[in-house]
Amino acid sequence: MAGSGSAQLRPRDEVLLSVKDLVVQFPAGRKRVVHAVSSVSFDLAQGETLGIVGESGCGKSTVAKAVVRLVDIASGEITYEGRDLAALEGEDLRRIRPRLQMIFQDPISSLNPRRRVRDVIAEGLAVWGDNDGSRRRDRVAELMDAVGVEESHGSRRPHELSGGQCQRVGIARALALDPEVLICDEPVSALDVSIQAQILNLLQDMKSRYGLTVLFISHDLSVVKNVSDRIMVMYLGKVCEIGSTSEIYAHPAHPYTRALLASIPEPASTVEPHEGDIGDELPSATDPPGGCRFHTRCPHATEVCRQQEPVSAQLGAADHYVACHHPVEQRPLE
Ligand code: SF4
Repeated sequence: MAGSGSAQLRPRDEVLLSVKDLVVQFPAGRKRVVHAVSSVSFDLAQGETLGIVGESGCGKSTVAKAVVRLVDIASGEITYEGRDLAALEGEDLRRIRPRLQMIFQDPISSLNPRRRVRDVIAEGLAVWGDNDGSRRRDRVAELMDAVGVEESHGSRRPHELSGGQCQRVGIARALALDPEVLICDEPVSALDVSIQAQILNLLQDMKSRYGLTVLFISHDLSVVKNVSDRIMVMYLGKVCEIGSTSEIYAHPAHPYTRALLASIPEPASTVEPHEGDIGDELPSATDPPGGCRFHTRCPHATEVCRQQEPVSAQLGAADHYVACHHPVEQRPLE
């Protein structure tokens, strides 16, 4: 699958954040490691939303946490404002953190249960030394209004709010420090379906209002489709395919992307329902398959797939890259 992936990088002047050859590993005992993220590369252009999608265990959330340095990075570069975030430590890292903020999957447990809503939102402002109480109160009131939390809820604690209201508070907290990049890790997957659309609409509104650039992580391609300019598909720590949302839906080329598309309620018209039949057994990330990591589940695997790791190569449209020895458009029609 995608190696260094340098071919998928975008013009330098558009790039706000660049991830190159990112590797994240977790210890798994007896000198074994979990290969959570293996040589992942991508660029994030100013003002765009990049959706990262894949099954649980594909490494997408670990990529998000690595970008904000919530997990240790084994190797690779994360370039933002001309600096390598992967190499920053101490005060340098602390100073850059407000610029990249994260929204988490479980809105209730991600908020301090002992604090009142308005104090939760003001947390970052206090940490970052805005000692003017009046200005802080004004900022919190502005944010509560922006995300649709009633003023009377400011004195409540998180457990007194619904999941959707808590996620609104989480978004307000993330916006309090005026970030440039918002990293959303499965922000609606813990919410009722009826609430999901409201939160997605709110995120879109906040993106426009505050000029944000967004990394949006989800296991659900139908959610990612509605919010993303581009989509990156991951499998077992590797990038399979990346391209504009319209291109990924119109011309999905990687068998894993096609399987994901075949399994959603409104699949792309270009995939057959049977393409979703890849079984549900994800190989262990402590001992991932050699060659193409997807070969144990891929209906199109050949000997070369078992022996050689495919590299990311451009396919058709300028921004469409696929890591597959037999991408769909090159395969003879059946
Ligand atoms: Fe991997 Fe081969 Fe299947 Fe492509 S065709 S996804 S390289 S196993």
